[in-house]
Amino acid sequence: MVKKIDVAEIFGSDVFDDATMKERLPKKIYKELKQTISVGGELDSHVAEVVANAMKDWAIEKGATHYTHWFQPLTGITAEKHDAFISPTDDGGVILEFSGKELIKGEPDGSSFPSGGLRATFEARGYTAWDCTSPAFVHETPSGSTVLCIPTIFCSYTGEALDKKTPLLRSMEALSVQALRIVRAFGDTEAQKVTTSVGPEQEYFLVDRDTYNQREDLIFAGRTLFGAPAPKGQELDDHYFGSIKERVSSYMNDLNEELWKLGVTAKTQHNEVAPAQHELAPIYNTTNIATDHNQLIMETMKKVALRHNLVCLLHEKPFAGINGSGKHNNWSMSTDTGVNLLDPGVTPHQNKQFLLILSAILKAVDEYAPLLRESAANPGNDHRLGANEAPPAIISIFLGEQLEDVLNQLCEKGEATSSKVGGKLDVGVSTVPSFMKDATDRNRTSPFAFTGNKFEFRMVGSTASIADPNTVLNTIVAETLRQAADVLEASDDPIMAAHDLTKKWIGEHIRIIFNGNGYSEEWVEEAERRGLPNIKNMVDALGCLTEEYAVELFERHKVMTRVELTSRQEVGYETYAKAINIEARTMIDMTKKEIIPAVIKYTTTVAQSVAAVKAVGADASVQEASLADISKNLVAMNAALEKLEAATDKAASIEEPKAQAIAYRDEVFTTMSELREPADALEMLVDKSVWPFPTYGDLLFNV
Ligand code: ADP
Ligand code: MG
Repeated sequence: MVKKIDVAEIFGSDVFDDATMKERLPKKIYKELKQTISVGGELDSHVAEVVANAMKDWAIEKGATHYTHWFQPLTGITAEKHDAFISPTDDGGVILEFSGKELIKGEPDGSSFPSGGLRATFEARGYTAWDCTSPAFVHETPSGSTVLCIPTIFCSYTGEALDKKTPLLRSMEALSVQALRIVRAFGDTEAQKVTTSVGPEQEYFLVDRDTYNQREDLIFAGRTLFGAPAPKGQELDDHYFGSIKERVSSYMNDLNEELWKLGVTAKTQHNEVAPAQHELAPIYNTTNIATDHNQLIMETMKKVALRHNLVCLLHEKPFAGINGSGKHNNWSMSTDTGVNLLDPGVTPHQNKQFLLILSAILKAVDEYAPLLRESAANPGNDHRLGANEAPPAIISIFLGEQLEDVLNQLCEKGEATSSKVGGKLDVGVSTVPSFMKDATDRNRTSPFAFTGNKFEFRMVGSTASIADPNTVLNTIVAETLRQAADVLEASDDPIMAAHDLTKKWIGEHIRIIFNGNGYSEEWVEEAERRGLPNIKNMVDALGCLTEEYAVELFERHKVMTRVELTSRQEVGYETYAKAINIEARTMIDMTKKEIIPAVIKYTTTVAQSVAAVKAVGADASVQEASLADISKNLVAMNAALEKLEAATDKAASIEEPKAQAIAYRDEVFTTMSELREPADALEMLVDKSVWPFPTYGDLLFNV
């Protein structure tokens, strides 16, 4: 039976959204709250009181017994601590209460969250504060109880950001300030605010839960640490956009329903390149809401999977040899009057404001490439970037034929006088109508691609919060727009000044543009000649956060202080070390307790067979060769195991975070491959029935 879903009816039904507020709040209160949401400024405590009460009544009607400040600490996932609405009465009973104070401010102890030295456990005071620009919602817990979730930021007693949302919100404000100056210089007197929007496309894998439960590596590390390739991988391209299997389709239906209730505009779903890999894309939203929604998407993906006896893997590289997962971050900025500043229009060569903004983005991405690269760095993504399945670790920009031609005209002739058009596409079948095609084809290998009226930052990892990349994007663009605005405001002829600056910046930053194949070896060499950084791993990427230019940038725009940047860097080193430590210890565990015992058992059987076959005078050469091969790999595996144990213990004992992260990368991570190689070889030599855990074939092709 197909379950019918009334999408329009359920959409946003679990959200205390604009319509709900309008309906439930007195007009004056609603207006004041809306003013704060759209323009900013401090919220009156009386308003907060009324909103809190209305929110509570609404949530209780939805079955909520508890509320929580919902925040995003530096772990990159969300955190919540539930409080019941109850408040005792004199006669020994309770009433349900929720005050404006409780709405606005919370004080979770939270001393166990990573803070990178910002907070010692003995001075654990941390505050959560309501972010009224992201709507509250009710969330069902796995046991069926319902909680009112209030999106908040999380900061320390002294006001330092301890979360991902605070810098993001600050960066949105910084960008708005500078972008407004630009549109003003071009004569726009109406716009009051410029907002960045994001549409993040989320990739994920689905595997059978029972199969998953038999693999320690998936349980502890989120990715397979062993596994010989299955006979079939993704070489036939038959999974990409392929028809969706029933079990997966039924999962997607449930997922969509849950997300729609939460007001998440889940829009596009399809099978991805690798077997068992899929994608979901929502319709874009303002960056802070998109960030919250992406967290909800990831959480809901995992939660709904269990109901279907599936497990959703969000890791960047769950399986070797086939594609991993990422998150394309589609980014644009528009005024509150509805103008997308990244829309070139039909004749980009005439759109001087667009061209200036474009050149400012080229400059920002070129000058601050290491920060962008860092914003996409996590241990999982180290497996993808530069591995010919995701963008290279080198930042470059793809603009497409049309814009590149306009820029070339500007550079060569000092003036752009025409824009190439897409023209008609005639497929040569009379019944298929011909249509206008885009002025530019796509490029799938670029890390930062212009796609019509937005930029698509394609380096972000699938588990990552999109807060970091967008904080960086907003801030670096705010900075170059600031420089442009300074020039324009000082000139008698701002339009001419913009034209000259555009030309200058394009000339200076042309090296960042690359329209070719980003996966090729030639590009790596060419990029090196151009002087573009190629930062290969997370540990190296983290360095830039405390470089003087980065501190100056973030402090100037009041997005992050030196102390906050230092703390984030330290958390980064620790995160890396912890992730590799877990992976190494999981490998050691699996090797000792599962692989070695299984192989020993099997070799005994083969040895007995050799003896038995020989005893009757028959040819045992095949058995002997197999035994020799297995024994050789077993010896190699054991040697690698001992080496890995020693390297892991040594790295674990290092105190200084950076030195420790380097040890995990150079000593531990490299030895993990040495251990995996003979183990995977053994998987191919040993009877499947004695191999201790499910194979790639079992995991990838049984849903
Ligand atoms: P693709 O073909 O690359 O998957 P889509 O058209 O499906 O591109 O869009 C991908 C994502 O980009 C979606 O989340 C979509 O809502 C988002 N998007 C579209 N326009 C904009 C925009 N102006 N700003 C930000 N994101 C956008
Ligand atoms: Mg895309």
